[in-house]
Amino acid sequence: MKPAPFKLVAPRSREEALAALAEHDGDARVLAGGQSLVPLMNMRVVQPGVLVSINGCRDLDYIRLEDDRIVCGALARQAAAEESDLVRRRCPLLADAAPWIGGMANRNRGTVCGSLAHSDPLAELPAVAVATDAEIVLASRDGRRTLAATDFFVGELATAIRPGEMVEAARFATAWSGERTAFLEVSNRQHAFAVAGVAVRLDLAPDGRCRDVRIAVMGGGPTAMRIEAGERAVVGTTIGVEAARAAADAVERAVDPPTDIHADAAYRRRVLGVLTMRALQQAAGRS
Ligand SMILES: Cc1cc2nc3c(=O)[nH]c(=O)nc-3n(C[C@H](O)[C@H](O)[C@H](O)COP(=O)(O)OP(=O)(O)OC[C@H]3O[C@@H](n4cnc5c(N)ncnc54)[C@H](O)[C@@H]3O)c2cc1C
Repeated sequence: MKPAPFKLVAPRSREEALAALAEHDGDARVLAGGQSLVPLMNMRVVQPGVLVSINGCRDLDYIRLEDDRIVCGALARQAAAEESDLVRRRCPLLADAAPWIGGMANRNRGTVCGSLAHSDPLAELPAVAVATDAEIVLASRDGRRTLAATDFFVGELATAIRPGEMVEAARFATAWSGERTAFLEVSNRQHAFAVAGVAVRLDLAPDGRCRDVRIAVMGGGPTAMRIEAGERAVVGTTIGVEAARAAADAVERAVDPPTDIHADAAYRRRVLGVLTMRALQQAAGRS
């Protein structure tokens, strides 16, 4: 089945892209890597009248360090984040998660910001954004605004993006001084979407005590979720078995997973508990 008819606009810059979105207010969608949008259009689940392709906007293709944040422009490909030495050093959780996204061919085209804008509850990058206190920069012809990732994701395939707006960039917090990370997921087959997954960041003091922590899950509800009850169970501890188990139990209590053809809610809840325990111990260097 082919997409419904649409007009393709190919701006060459951020300014031109914003002008095109404003001109076709409400009926235009951004086309980035097309790895999610094109399949949805082919199935006619979405039928935009106008596609504004940002693939020619070189000024949106960057990954850089800015104000102690790793900033990915709207055209930064997932593979670029995966291969970036700067990302590996300054935002290791993003580097850990990228290889789990589909296959290499998908990551060569798919963008970091496109995955965030798509807001799939089983996607890796929204969980990374939540676990790294990311800021999402939204732009329109009228100006810019910045939202915390937790305010940006509002539901399954739903975000706070307004008509005429695009995600211009995502700003991920850089690593804490004692940062340790782990990203674990379960899927039914290689390169498939996850059934459930957990992203963990720890800030360990020299004595091994946890000074700060982020636990974010995918597959625990309609959006990526931060589990603060789980975090409270491990802060101040050396992430021993008891503390990790308490965090895992808190995660299982906090989530409300979906049931679908890939897995049921009870299975996802259990998997999220087990992965939380493993990820905490892996990050703490105990596994
Ligand atoms: C075979 C296959 C396997 C996959 N496996 C995984 C997986 O395991 N994990 C995973 O997370 N993803 C997976 N994906 C999806 C992939 O990661 C997509 O790249 C991602 O979901 C969307 O990014 P994109 O750049 O391709 O965006 P597009 O497909 O171009 O757009 C996706 C949506 O976001 C909007 N959008 C894109 N960019 C912007 C922007 N800058 N501002 C505003 N709106 C924007 C579009 O309008 C559209 O609604 C898979 C895809 C395929 C085809």
